Amino acid sequence: MALERTLSIIKPDAVAKNVIGEIYSRFEKAGLKVAAAKMKQLSRAEAEGFYAVHRERPFFKALVDFMISGPVMIQVLEGEGAVLKHRDLMGATNPKEAAAGTIRADFADSIDANAVHGSDAAETAAVEIAYFFPSTDVYVR
Ligand code: ADP
Ligand code: MG
Repeated sequence: MALERTLSIIKPDAVAKNVIGEIYSRFEKAGLKVAAAKMKQLSRAEAEGFYAVHRERPFFKALVDFMISGPVMIQVLEGEGAVLKHRDLMGATNPKEAAAGTIRADFADSIDANAVHGSDAAETAAVEIAYFFPSTDVYVR
């Protein structure tokens, strides 16, 4: 397995539930290291740009409205097979379908407010990381 980086976002619902630490703890226990992090209130333009791939989907407006409803916690995670490892920790997009013990099963209320974002491939991770962090703000762990 290759050493990878992935872009992780703790969404406004989970920040509001005050479970940033619990979610970070799951990353650490799975062997993922935080290589960059910041809390941020996204602007509408920033959220629309980040989710541009979903622009034509019926849920796009609701997704953007939700993502700007409060601050998010954005981090770069580094580790062996980080992209898939992080997706496994997150669980399925719809928390009703997420496996027991996953972040979404434990902290998400709905498919709209589903607690976390994670890159879906190494290539998209590189684009998403660069969207939020200059390379000098990402540390080798
Ligand atoms: P994931 O976040 O698991 O990678 P997607 O990339 O497919 O999922 O979608 C991005 C986000 O858009 C999801 O996390 C979810 O918040 C929202 N979303 C996806 N599908 C739907 C849907 N059918 N209805 C409402 N919101 C959705
Ligand atoms: Mg996705």
